[in-house]
Amino acid sequence: MLLTLTTTHRPATDLGYLLVKHPDKVHTADLPTGTAYVLYPEATEERCTAALLLDVDPQRLRGRADAFALGQFVNDRPYAASSLLAGALNKVFRSALRGRSKDRPELAERALPLELRVPVLRGTPELAERLFTPLGWRVVATPIPLDDVPETHPLAGPSPYIDLVLTGTIRVADALNHLYVLLPVLDDAKHYWVAPDEIDKLLRSGEGWLAGHPEKVLITRRYLAHRKSMAASALEQLDQADPDSVDAPADTATDEEAELPVARRQSLAEQRRDAIVAALREAGAARVLDLGCGGGALLGALLKDSHFAEIVGVDVSSRALDLAERRLRLDRMPERKRARLKLFQSALTYRDDRLRGYDAAVLMEVIEHLDPPRLPALAASVLGHAQPATVVVTTPNAEYNVRYEGLTGLRHSDHRFEWTRAEFGGWARSTAEAYGYAVEMRGVGEIDEALGTPTQMAIFRKEESA
Ligand code: SAH
Repeated sequence: MLLTLTTTHRPATDLGYLLVKHPDKVHTADLPTGTAYVLYPEATEERCTAALLLDVDPQRLRGRADAFALGQFVNDRPYAASSLLAGALNKVFRSALRGRSKDRPELAERALPLELRVPVLRGTPELAERLFTPLGWRVVATPIPLDDVPETHPLAGPSPYIDLVLTGTIRVADALNHLYVLLPVLDDAKHYWVAPDEIDKLLRSGEGWLAGHPEKVLITRRYLAHRKSMAASALEQLDQADPDSVDAPADTATDEEAELPVARRQSLAEQRRDAIVAALREAGAARVLDLGCGGGALLGALLKDSHFAEIVGVDVSSRALDLAERRLRLDRMPERKRARLKLFQSALTYRDDRLRGYDAAVLMEVIEHLDPPRLPALAASVLGHAQPATVVVTTPNAEYNVRYEGLTGLRHSDHRFEWTRAEFGGWARSTAEAYGYAVEMRGVGEIDEALGTPTQMAIFRKEESA
């Protein structure tokens, strides 16, 4: 299996710094699937090519309890690029994938003229186009003809292999992450057990590009080897990171996906936003706080509704605020719309005078990210100090988790807890009482008779003070 990466950026040999592999040497790595080599067929100032060669060892693949074991020695694995190559890439170019470079940090941040080639790859030209074009690549995928196969032979017909060439001006880290995720997606034969941490790997490698990709449903499903519940959970997290998904109706999935619950599940995030917006409108709120706004998923929905005259996104994480700024494309937003939005950093467990005087506050999927002993401080700062007339809180319903097949722990790696309906109801009622609010409990998402809805929502309304 072979992959080459070429740049014409000058000096082109700087590629060696970005990949942390010196162009004058041959680098070898022992992997569970075989031996990987990195070498440079050309390395001049004008043009430099790094080649990753994976010499698959069928012996090492034997005895694995997966699809490989079936094919044993007589399969195409040693030749056709696949998830094995993706695995090798991940191992051999680890810091480059993370966008880190000790020697050329500025260069690692820059988009460079690149050409990627995978000369033998299972997949179709159409799918290669659908996957790579939206990411800014020019795609040339040439079907590889089979040698003189008689028409009556079972192998007759179009070959399942392509020669893939991608060109574009793209950051090296992004290019490698695109390949890491999309090679196995193109191949669509998953060769290893899909562990729950695959979701995290997918989200990490897909950061900044997967959430907005038009084929994100297909990519996520195939990457997670058709394990629907895991794909659903990943899509929900991607959706949270993608305010544009408000625009994307669930039925943008291709026919192939249409019958799958993923499309419906994906819209849980949308249903949640809709339910929150509806609650805010019912309350007649025009000036609203989105507390723990994260990547700005709700801010995007609020901005679309001109009823909300002043919208404030607050988060403790400056990274989240940067992400929201980028995702909402604040730099390109028309002045009038931009003027309705403020973003600032604040920790919700401390009183902040800037949060006072608003009609409503939302805590969408935030409380479960706090350690339980910090919750009283959060309640004191939001309901006790900021004191908006309405506070809308959503959080997962832990009872519903059994419906997510394959989910073992919590729904997200940063969740500190997930509550049953009784637990959330108990917290909501005692908190409301402590701060002079009335509370109403609602469910969001498809209801299961026994388990309730996947998301639970509490609406606090300030009682008229005597
Ligand atoms: N509301 C967003 C993000 C949910 S993730 C959405 O549903 O898409 C939880 C967010 O809460 C994260 O962005 C995290 O940075 C933020 N957060 C966690 N603890 C916080 C605290 N003490 N103060 C402010 N924000 C906090």
